[in-house]
Amino acid sequence: MGSVAMEEMPMDLEFGKLVGELREVYESGRTRGLEWRLSQLRGLVRLLEEEEEGIFDALYHDLGKHRAESFRDEVHTPLVAFPATAMVVPEPLGVVLIFSCWNLPIGLALEPLSGALAAGNAAVVKPSELAPYTSAFLVANVPRYLDPEAVKVVDGGAEVGEKLMEYRWDKVLFTGSSRVGQLIMTKAAKHLTPVALELGSKCPCIVDWLDSNRDSQVAVNRIIGAKWSTCSGQACIAIDYLLVEEEFAPILIELLKSTLKRFFTKPEYMARILNEKHFQRLAGFLADRRVASSVVHGGHVNAKTLTIEPTLLLNPPLDSDIMTEEIFGPLLPIITVKKIEDSIKFLKSKPKPLAIYAFTRNEKLKRRIIEETSSGSVTFNDAIVQYGLDTIPFGGVGHSGFGQYHGKYSFEMFSHKKAVLKRSFLLEFMFRYPPWDDSKIGMLRH
Ligand code: NAD
Repeated sequence: MGSVAMEEMPMDLEFGKLVGELREVYESGRTRGLEWRLSQLRGLVRLLEEEEEGIFDALYHDLGKHRAESFRDEVHTPLVAFPATAMVVPEPLGVVLIFSCWNLPIGLALEPLSGALAAGNAAVVKPSELAPYTSAFLVANVPRYLDPEAVKVVDGGAEVGEKLMEYRWDKVLFTGSSRVGQLIMTKAAKHLTPVALELGSKCPCIVDWLDSNRDSQVAVNRIIGAKWSTCSGQACIAIDYLLVEEEFAPILIELLKSTLKRFFTKPEYMARILNEKHFQRLAGFLADRRVASSVVHGGHVNAKTLTIEPTLLLNPPLDSDIMTEEIFGPLLPIITVKKIEDSIKFLKSKPKPLAIYAFTRNEKLKRRIIEETSSGSVTFNDAIVQYGLDTIPFGGVGHSGFGQYHGKYSFEMFSHKKAVLKRSFLLEFMFRYPPWDDSKIGMLRH
């Protein structure tokens, strides 16, 4: 059994047994061998290839995602230690727990899992109950492709997550909200379990004047791609708001409007809002009269279909909820600044986001953004695509979280870099032992 049927016995006993079994498998050494690790990674690849239709289907049922959108889803040794060889040997951490979120429910579960397995850990994945079709898909398919005794999927909501956190894990990677992230960290502290928190934030996007129509159009295409065609803005690295010069705002708005019209010719080209609660949260932003009066495009909401039109807002008040909370939906505020350089001051006054985007050819501005602001990542002249690169780490800083993964960073996330020193019996320096005198200080210095 690679998954847990919770009705069969009380949750405490069931999870205690589960963690105990995983630890036994890990302690047997089976997960450490190269062959096992490669076989698990091959299993993951096969799962993604052979079960693609099932994944499309689950993502469609959970989020109304179109198939096309789902697809995109050696060391200096001191003299006293001479001769010796020093090295760093990565070792697996043990039994790890991965919490994933509903908005990219396959990627946010399997990407960290690939790192955990590559490093040789046993793992539990706890997907989000808010994407039930995808959770059911993972419960059914992970045991078919991966070692079912070393990899488990535990389905369930907050209470299951809380119960799991009562046990000792060797690492917890949590993707989700700051509120739950805090709870996870508090519970992990009891067992001194290290955590990585992948949280949310408001990701800003600076849009500088671009002197060619073609490049402005490319920028607008990419902004739309990073907002409305990425789970309708329900993505941690979706663009949250734009920063533009006052005089450029009307031009940009017109271009956004005409391109939105061309892109979204059918309603099914945009994923729907997850559920009633999230829909009401977004509709609530627009219920603030000051915010409603800043709408310059869209603004229609449909509670029946849980859809919200792509919406542009010009200068909603900076103290309104839409400008103080993460939007996580298809509403895009445009904030104007006198000079584009003023946007750096604006960014520095806000918590550190997961990503900063800027569309610009201005190399000085790019340098200032890199050097003067802090964020998980910076992307110039595109957005969201940084997530797909496995050569750069993905993760937050400050309020947007900590701990980085993707590519080799996923392996590092779930490994301990063990320092290993191998000495020989050949040379023996007596100045390192008593009786002491001052002449030994000089020798010890080397
Ligand atoms: P959430 O924090 O409510 O849930 C995340 C996970 O935690 C789920 O598996 C859930 O079942 C579990 N959980 C919920 N309550 C729990 C509790 N009390 N104890 C233990 N586990 C519990 O998720 P959400 O609020 O729906 O997610 C949205 C947030 O996630 C946004 O802020 C978004 O930006 C962020 N996010 C971040 C990333 C990233 O990679 N940094 C990716 C996706 C989403």
